[in-house]
Amino acid sequence: MRVFLTGLMASAAALALSAAANAADYVFATPDEAYAHLSADDEFTVRLQPMEIGLRLEDNAQISREALNALYRDSVRDFTDEERARLDALLAEDAALLESLSPLLPDDVVFIATNGGIDGGFPHTRGNAIVFTPSWLAGGDAGFRQTFYHELWHVLSRHNRDRADEIYALIGFEPCEVMVPENLSERRLTNPDAPVNAHYAPLEMDQADGVVPVLFLPEGGYDPTLEGGFGAHLGFSLMAVDLEGRHCEPALDGDGNPMLIAPGNLPQYLDLIGRNTGYIIHPEETLADNFVLWVNGAEGVPDPEVVERLGAWIEANR
Ligand SMILES: [Zn+2]
Repeated sequence: MRVFLTGLMASAAALALSAAANAADYVFATPDEAYAHLSADDEFTVRLQPMEIGLRLEDNAQISREALNALYRDSVRDFTDEERARLDALLAEDAALLESLSPLLPDDVVFIATNGGIDGGFPHTRGNAIVFTPSWLAGGDAGFRQTFYHELWHVLSRHNRDRADEIYALIGFEPCEVMVPENLSERRLTNPDAPVNAHYAPLEMDQADGVVPVLFLPEGGYDPTLEGGFGAHLGFSLMAVDLEGRHCEPALDGDGNPMLIAPGNLPQYLDLIGRNTGYIIHPEETLADNFVLWVNGAEGVPDPEVVERLGAWIEANR
């Protein structure tokens, strides 16, 4: 019995050691490292359309990757000592939770500090990096932590891209190859957190088999007279699609245009994905907000079963 117990304790200690050895590292990037990361070819940059680069540079004549990279070069910076301390404190406070998530995370999670000049100043992710903005880093504690976990979800989800079908199925999405018509494709706005559109929401509707949430710019792209900057340029609709084999073909209206439906006119969409968040522009974003709810043990949300399903998936896979 003693031997058995000793053996058990030894293996528990070995397990703890190996878990620590496999824990994700959180790395503060230098400006040079941050620039290398942001200017790299990845699933986001390869999808960028000229028009949306013009929006990001607030100049419709600036549509090259080189111009975008120059913006990245100008926007990256070092973290201040206060910002590092604040992030270190969060990592220390949540060490147990973060360690438990490590099996689902890449070896390194990279932190990039910016002056807020990238992607409309919205917090976002690229690859295994989280891109911080000054307003986020200086904001209140609750929002600081919530945004951290929202963004960490994107890093986690991307690291498990080969399981995207089962992850997005947690809110009812199914895989399909999305065919976006050309006039919409050139106006596409690529979300760095969810650059891939490869799933649709099957819905009971008269005109089509379901919808794909799409983001696009106004016709003509960046409009300097539009108040509200980057965010004001963000068009969102549910594009009705018909499933043809593995393809999601846009369902066309009488004039041959894709049917773009406002989410308010399609309550079935919210029935499918749940009403825990208004952030419904992509299954990835809806899940990121539900992940924050799971982290916070949120109670009293409209659709707790969505949080439970997500939590069960994490439990089963971490
Ligand atoms: Zn997001």
